[in-house]
Amino acid sequence: MTSIVRFAPSPTGRIHIGNARTAILNWLMASKTGGQFVLRYDDTDTARSTQEFADGIATDLDWLGIKPHRVEWQSRRFGRYDEVADKLRAEGRLYPCYETADELDRKRKRQEARKQPPIYDRAALKLTEEDRAKLEAGGKKPHWRFKLDGRVVEWNDQIRGPQHIDTRSLSDPVLVREDGSYLYTLPSVIDDIDFAVTHVIRGEDHVVNTAVQIEITQALGARAPTYAHHSLLTGADGKGLSKRLGSLSIGSMREGGLEPMAVVSHAALLGTSGNIHPCADYAELVEGFDLGKLSRAPARFDETELLHLNAKLLHQLPWDAVKDRLPGDSEAFWLAIRGNIEKLSDAATWRDVVKGHVTPVIALEDTDFIATARSLLPPEPWDGTTWKAWTEAVKAATDRKGKPLFMPLRMALTGLGHGPELAQLLPLIGRDKALERLF
Ligand code: GLU
Repeated sequence: MTSIVRFAPSPTGRIHIGNARTAILNWLMASKTGGQFVLRYDDTDTARSTQEFADGIATDLDWLGIKPHRVEWQSRRFGRYDEVADKLRAEGRLYPCYETADELDRKRKRQEARKQPPIYDRAALKLTEEDRAKLEAGGKKPHWRFKLDGRVVEWNDQIRGPQHIDTRSLSDPVLVREDGSYLYTLPSVIDDIDFAVTHVIRGEDHVVNTAVQIEITQALGARAPTYAHHSLLTGADGKGLSKRLGSLSIGSMREGGLEPMAVVSHAALLGTSGNIHPCADYAELVEGFDLGKLSRAPARFDETELLHLNAKLLHQLPWDAVKDRLPGDSEAFWLAIRGNIEKLSDAATWRDVVKGHVTPVIALEDTDFIATARSLLPPEPWDGTTWKAWTEAVKAATDRKGKPLFMPLRMALTGLGHGPELAQLLPLIGRDKALERLF
């Protein structure tokens, strides 16, 4: 079955790894089913939503390899929402309420004192037309609540399994504010219906909304989509991510030099029964994608693990996948160094070792050894066999082997005690530079 999914961020900030995970799961669903991915900006809060944030979100999604098939803005659909709200009003499903925030607060406190659940008492339903006229003549404007059926709403959640929520335990939700603006709940339902959304994949913070939204969908005579609520991410400490969201934004990961597919692989596989491993493109993730593999337990996000995954991804990338980003380098260079970097930008360290200036490190007791090694450097042309031929000769001449043989050569040639295979590096360094450094 093909699917139409949507990712519905509010453009009131940039997206972080948690939102990105929602987007990626939706993208995988669309890809797996040959379906469509709708990017819907939930910008009913016109005061806090900005074009700049919307553009930033589009950039972040693009970097993650997500190419929406359709882009929609809730702020451009108010006329449609008004039409539907009027229909619900006419049917008595949307009713006007006049309580102030203070009044509602007092009601809640009284309920608490009596150990009653803090559910809206529907006092406004008892108002007569006269009462309402009086209130409005006194300058009061209504906000509008949806009259819940008060029944057990059930759905088969693709991640959480069968769900039952008794809407008698909920207050009738406010759908329209006093100033006529919409809360998120109704526009989302209308859009999901109008755009023929088949699957709503979102965080479990929306589970209760789902019960309400299913009731609204049915009140509008439509069929509810399939729902899947994934667990939320926590930090490595098991606490919510919210405090460090800035550093976990997709923008900062991009600027920090992470590979998009490392972020995607991590986000897609986190909290699943599968191993977290780097996928170089979406194809492999799509192949193994199944919402049923996602665990209900909160998934721990650890930046260190992401960095490891980034390194692992780079270690296996072919030259073709990176050559555009490493102008001036060669395939031989890439194959030599890819196993020794965590981020692509680390290539600069090894480029310096190969092409730039190195301060050779030669211990006093190795001076003679290095001089002998220098005198035995084979003539060019050099290739992958040169290192072996050279070190065999040095070994024979100096009686050294193992670490005492190799480490002083590495320290002199690269100035470092660790790094890529010298068999691969040596021909890249070349004879002239090697002669300079073995001194
Ligand atoms: N704008 C909502 C949010 O970001 C969308 C939730 C949904 O997917 O319906 O939480």
